[in-house]
Amino acid sequence: MTRPVQATLDAQALRHNLLTAKKHASKSRVMAIIKANGYGHGIQWTAKTLNDGVAFGVASVEEAIAVREAGITAPICLLEGFFEASEIPLLEQYGLAPVIHDEYQIGLLERYVAATPLNVWIKVDTGMHRIGFTPDRFMKAMLRLEDCKCIGRIRLMAHFPNADNTFDSTTMEQCRVAQELNASFGLEQSMANSAAIFNWPETHLDWVRPGIMLYGASPNAGSAGKQLDLKPVMTFRSKLIAVHQRKQGDPIGYGGDYVCSRDMPVGVVAVGYGDGYPRNAPKGTPVLVKGKPVSLIGRVSMDMITVSLRKVPDAKPGDPVVLWGKRLPVEEIANRTNTIAYELLCRVTDRVPRIEQE
Ligand SMILES: *Cc1c(COP(=O)(O)O)cnc(C)c1O
Repeated sequence: MTRPVQATLDAQALRHNLLTAKKHASKSRVMAIIKANGYGHGIQWTAKTLNDGVAFGVASVEEAIAVREAGITAPICLLEGFFEASEIPLLEQYGLAPVIHDEYQIGLLERYVAATPLNVWIKVDTGMHRIGFTPDRFMKAMLRLEDCKCIGRIRLMAHFPNADNTFDSTTMEQCRVAQELNASFGLEQSMANSAAIFNWPETHLDWVRPGIMLYGASPNAGSAGKQLDLKPVMTFRSKLIAVHQRKQGDPIGYGGDYVCSRDMPVGVVAVGYGDGYPRNAPKGTPVLVKGKPVSLIGRVSMDMITVSLRKVPDAKPGDPVVLWGKRLPVEEIANRTNTIAYELLCRVTDRVPRIEQE
């Protein structure tokens, strides 16, 4: 017997979602974004399952090495670049293409002697105001990079802050700014994340960078993945470990926030914030017991939650529970907990086994 919480992973759904991205951006190459441990799905499983003519985008050399150790030879981009000089030899050793977003990185590259030239992505800041060269700094940075002996191919990357808003024309303006900067260089360009893949076809250009859509969740507020032909990849599951008949007036869990309004069966599920289930999930958050929706009641504990079983009176210990995934979109739990699907997926903790399904 082991604790019944697990995250099952649907390989077919992951590949289906990649096809959906390719259908929307049929002329572009794909850099599949698998940072944050493949948005919580396991970076090696995600990379191996998607490894068919795509490049990968990760957040660190450590993540990239994990992908290489899974036997992947596809191009890998470091989306935040490298952070210190000691990482540069690893870029060469593992064949990693860093994003170059700041002059200090160029300074380090100018002093590096490479046996094999490094490919890089120059990041232009067109309005996100996070990382990247603003248009006034871009030209000088580009000329310095072109002069670096250790540099092979240079590509251009930009990132949109508002691509999920289909009414916000700044996305197209930012795309044009980047293209104008690139006019005299003719670099390959990548701008579109999942939201732009769906909402802004003119931004697809040479490379698209789908992240959240690959995992089956919608990048657009207010729409579910299903409406966009996406299938949930992760199903977060556990089991009932106790069922008790409680009396009207019985308080449930820490603080006794929930008080039974009548005599009712209350189930205990082996999952909590120690597994990544959000602690701020309020009363009424849906949970599937034997495939039927029931309501979360009481506070989320580290290892357990409690649910009302009035709608499934025959439920008993051992019955299956789904926290999100198939038939219960993670977007719905994100809405209830004031966050986004991205965060819920990538904060499923290490103690939850990922179970792969073909
Ligand atoms: C995370 C990330 C993406 C993917 O974004 P989604 O909204 O998940 O599609 C694309 N580009 C960059 C630079 C990123 O950091």
